[in-house]
Amino acid sequence: MLKLYNTLTNQKEDFIPIDTGKVSMYSCGPTVYSHIHIGNLRAYLTADILRRYLEYSGFEVRQIKNITDVGHLTDDDIDQGDSGEDKMEKAAKKAKKTPQEIARFYENYAKETENSMNILPAQFFPRATEHIPHMIAIIETLIKKGYAYESNGNVFFDIEKFKDYGKLSGNTLEALNTGARLSEPHPDKKNQWDFALWLKAPDNHIMKWESPWSVGYPGWHIECSAMSMEYLGETFDIHTGGEDNIFPHHEAEIAQSECANGVKFVNYWVHCRHLLFDGTKMSKSKGTFLTLEDIKEKGFSTEDLRITYLLSHYRSQMNFTWKSLEQAQKNRQTIETFLQRLNSFESINTPEGKNIDVNIFRQQFEDAMDDDMNTPLALSTLLALVTQTNTFMDDETLHNTSEINAFFTKACNALGITTKITQQNIPQEITTLAQKREEARTNKDYALSDELRDKIMQNGYEIKDVSDGFELKRL
Ligand code: AMP
Ligand code: ZN
Repeated sequence: MLKLYNTLTNQKEDFIPIDTGKVSMYSCGPTVYSHIHIGNLRAYLTADILRRYLEYSGFEVRQIKNITDVGHLTDDDIDQGDSGEDKMEKAAKKAKKTPQEIARFYENYAKETENSMNILPAQFFPRATEHIPHMIAIIETLIKKGYAYESNGNVFFDIEKFKDYGKLSGNTLEALNTGARLSEPHPDKKNQWDFALWLKAPDNHIMKWESPWSVGYPGWHIECSAMSMEYLGETFDIHTGGEDNIFPHHEAEIAQSECANGVKFVNYWVHCRHLLFDGTKMSKSKGTFLTLEDIKEKGFSTEDLRITYLLSHYRSQMNFTWKSLEQAQKNRQTIETFLQRLNSFESINTPEGKNIDVNIFRQQFEDAMDDDMNTPLALSTLLALVTQTNTFMDDETLHNTSEINAFFTKACNALGITTKITQQNIPQEITTLAQKREEARTNKDYALSDELRDKIMQNGYEIKDVSDGFELKRL
């Protein structure tokens, strides 16, 4: 059974979903004012591995990932959601574009990047700007129930009213009061630690909406409460994000949602620790980040990057180095060569044929993944299977090829490692023969074309004509 470390309880817990066989999962998505970087990708990849492994284990997963296209202020990570500029508007002014143009551009970039990283797309990517009425409705409920108050067109959550405030991060009101004060608390707040649900927009603010309190815009935290509730219900199974989301963002989400609905918000909180670069957090706002393009420019593939993440546990801090990427690249090449070989190996069906006990490897793989997604251990189990199988293939004794192939492929899929034997894995001389055959066909020299097809087949490959050329496959 899968055990997950739950930030809410600070311990590993058996994962038991609300509905048998089904999992509801919300992942905090990108704020679309800049390129997503490989630090963000660690958070999305953690959620992807979790989803993939749940699916491997037989669950049906519904995953929602929001697009933050309004309300995330430049000082949100250090403040209580009421000071600084809107990140979208700041980027738009700089680029002389509208916030919407900026948002769509970086949303597409984020989705394309995830796709090339083989991250499964969420079933839905709701945008904050398209859920303003949902947020207003929750804020109205909070005011009605006495958990929020309006002041000069702004609305704040009154954290003194929620006795469980701090249960996720440990930042209770008492703990906050003993720490440093906020430099410039909003003048309309009762308590400096109250956080913004709605802010009145200054005249020059671009993104603003009518509301019962003012023409303004929502706080960042209320977005995720509104969108998760809309698509997953008042209580759902898993909420994911990076460790910087724990406070204030997720603490605030709990406060708003539990006070509005009167029920528990989320059962399991899963946070990945940060990806560091030169010893500090890789960060968009500080401009200290690498994108997927930077990785590719140095000759590494998206698969190499995925394996780099898998080589460290999601709950340990990961310092990005080019050396770690080189190590991952070697592992990727080992897996690729192995799959190519396994796919073309003819099982030994004579009395010399021997089986590898796949169940032992399956058990080790599942034990590792069940233990709070221990991907480094899971991957080393797969590499151990590669070593043993290679030995059996060297000795020409391997019998249960297809059983190994089936398990290996399924396990790789749970980690998001591609197992498709691609055209690039086909030896160059075979591709050259195929190109010559293509030329012959274009020149209507069918005798030569057939001759080349036979030659390709004699070398163990099949060629198929498709609309945009040809496809080669191992026989
Ligand atoms: P943002 O676009 O800044 O709202 O971040 C999107 C997601 O990426 C959030 O879940 C963050 O917690 C996560 N994230 C941001 N930076 C890092 C990092 N350096 N390492 C891991 N996760 C990160
Ligand atoms: Zn969020």
